[in-house]
Amino acid sequence: VEQASEPPYLTYSRYLHERHGCTVYRVAVDAGFSCPNRASGRAGAGCTYCAEDGSRAPYLAPLPPPGDERCAQTLAEQVGQAIGFLRRRYAAEAFILFFQAFSNTNAPVAVLRRVYDEGLDLAPFRGLSVATRPDCIDAEKADLLGSYRDRGLDVWVELGLQTAHDATLERIGRGHTVGQFLGAYQVLKARGIKVAVHLIFGLPGESLPQLVETIRFVASLKPDGVKIHNLHVPAGTVLAREYAMGEIAPPGAHTHIEYVIAAIERLPPQTVIMRLLCETPEDRLLAPRSFPVKQRFTSQLAAAMRERGAFQGRLYEDPDADLRSPGKA
Ligand code: SF4
Repeated sequence: VEQASEPPYLTYSRYLHERHGCTVYRVAVDAGFSCPNRASGRAGAGCTYCAEDGSRAPYLAPLPPPGDERCAQTLAEQVGQAIGFLRRRYAAEAFILFFQAFSNTNAPVAVLRRVYDEGLDLAPFRGLSVATRPDCIDAEKADLLGSYRDRGLDVWVELGLQTAHDATLERIGRGHTVGQFLGAYQVLKARGIKVAVHLIFGLPGESLPQLVETIRFVASLKPDGVKIHNLHVPAGTVLAREYAMGEIAPPGAHTHIEYVIAAIERLPPQTVIMRLLCETPEDRLLAPRSFPVKQRFTSQLAAAMRERGAFQGRLYEDPDADLRSPGKA
């Protein structure tokens, strides 16, 4: 039964509490993985919005490459510091190990196994989360991830899609297609691995109609989770140059709330809404500059949803729809 204070969608903290029966936090680490899209050698390689740190948590320093013996030590330092902090600050009782920065399946399986095992040995983790790209998943890597699930861990992969339109993916330099995303998604789901889909709202050339098409596609997959980001323009990126030229205009808070409501209402009720906005540190963010902080945004969103009787799944359509990308004929 939903409590009065709960927002009208399935939050990640509620999922974690229901799944684990206590207060669970993720320990985000950087194990030194890189990204094949940045190293591809093509001009301006990498996603146009990619900052140099590849989404590494701002408090983490760069690491040696994965498998380097110095990694184990720095991994231990990161885990020890994070657990101490999360216990003191949030009274965290249990933890999930989260490989966050860059593409955390971008290495041979033997290296991945060594790095994941080293990390998991550092604390009694309840789960393993791995952020990566669709072109860094294959059957062998999915088998490895599935083996942690067989050990009783709650295993999640965060898979970047961003948009279900191939033309936009090309424009933002993602270096993969919707078809590749779908292939990776199915390989993971066939092994019982939970998948959270990363999406960006307000990408160049896209507004509400394109976004609704993307959400219909994602909803038809019944994903375990989604992570929503509003388009941010970090300094020093290709996107920053486009912004300076007046070629793009990242949505403000009002538009993003409309986008988020349109998405949440069309997603299945069981999909965990893991994130609602981007949190680029102020000193690296060019635009949008006046955006409410997370807590304020979520309060505004919940109030707007309640006011109009909106709730997760209200407009969810039957999942028997075909799985073709809306960007294709
Ligand atoms: S996939 Fe991630 S790390 Fe790689 S270029 Fe894109 S944003 Fe950067």
